Amino acid sequence: MFLKKKIIKSTNDYWDSLKELKEQIENADAIIIGAGAGLSTSAGLEYGGKRFYDNFSDFAEKYGLQDMYSAGFYPFETLKEYWGYWSRHIYLNRYQAIPNRVYDDLLSLVKDKDYFVLTTNVDHCFQKAGFDKKRLFYTQGDYGLFQCSKACHQKTYDNEEQIKAMIETQKDMKIPLELIPYCPHCGAPMTVNLRVDGTFVQDEGWYNASERYNEFLRNHDNDHILFLELGVGNNTPAIIKYPFWNMTSKNKNTVYACINYSEIYYPDQIKKRTISIQNDIKQVLVDLLSVQL
Ligand SMILES: [Zn+2]
Repeated sequence: MFLKKKIIKSTNDYWDSLKELKEQIENADAIIIGAGAGLSTSAGLEYGGKRFYDNFSDFAEKYGLQDMYSAGFYPFETLKEYWGYWSRHIYLNRYQAIPNRVYDDLLSLVKDKDYFVLTTNVDHCFQKAGFDKKRLFYTQGDYGLFQCSKACHQKTYDNEEQIKAMIETQKDMKIPLELIPYCPHCGAPMTVNLRVDGTFVQDEGWYNASERYNEFLRNHDNDHILFLELGVGNNTPAIIKYPFWNMTSKNKNTVYACINYSEIYYPDQIKKRTISIQNDIKQVLVDLLSVQL
C-alpha cells in the first residue's frame, strides 16, 4: 500500500517515502528514469546566480543577461559574438566535470537493475557518469553536437575540438572569424543540436535510441515497472511527465515516483501507486543510499 505524501510534514514521512522507494528500486522488474533540468541543477549545473556571473560577467554587463536559459536565446549581432557566448556555455555545461556526485549516486542505485533513462537534458551528464549508452534516450539534443542551422541533412558533428579552440582564442566576447562553423553541404552557419524549433536534426543515433526505448517498453509490457521521475519541470511535460502518468495509470503493476524540489502534482487515479518526495534530489539520493531494508 502506497500512501500519497504530497508535502513533507515530518521527518518520519520523508524516511517512510524513502523506504518505499528503495523497496521499489530493489524489487521492480524494470526502472524507467525520466530526468529533467532539475536533476542537473541539483548536480551543481546551475544556470543562474553566481555560476552565471562568474563565467559571463561581460555578457551580463553588455546585454543585461541574467542566466544561461535566457542568454541562450539572445539574438547576438554577429556570429563571432554568438559563438563567443555559446562556446563558453557549452564548455561549461558539457565538457567540464560534473560539480558533484548526483549522477554517480543515481547510477549506484540502478546499475545492477534493468533500467532505461529518458531525458530532456542536453548536457551529456548520464554518459559522463558512466550510464550504459544503450539504455539512454536524450530526446532534445546534445551540447556536444553541431548540426546545419537549415537542417539540410540529418547528420550531427562532434564539436569538442572546435568549442575548445573558440574558448582559447576568444577576445572581447568574440571568436576569430575563421573559427565560425559552416555546414559542409549547403554552407549555412552551423548551430548546436538542440530542439528549439522545427529545424532540430534527429540523426541516426537519435532514431536508434528512440527505438531502443520503445523496445524496452514493449519488453516490459505489464511488468512491475518503477517510473522514477527526477527534476522534471513544467516546460515540456509531454515528453516525460504525461507519458509516465499515462503508463502508470494503464498498468496496475507500476509505481510512479517523483522527486522534485518544487511542488509535486499528479492525477488522482494514480495516487495509491505514487511516491512523491519534495526535496533536493542530491540529498534524497544520498539518503536513499543509506536506507537499509
Ligand atoms: Zn546545410
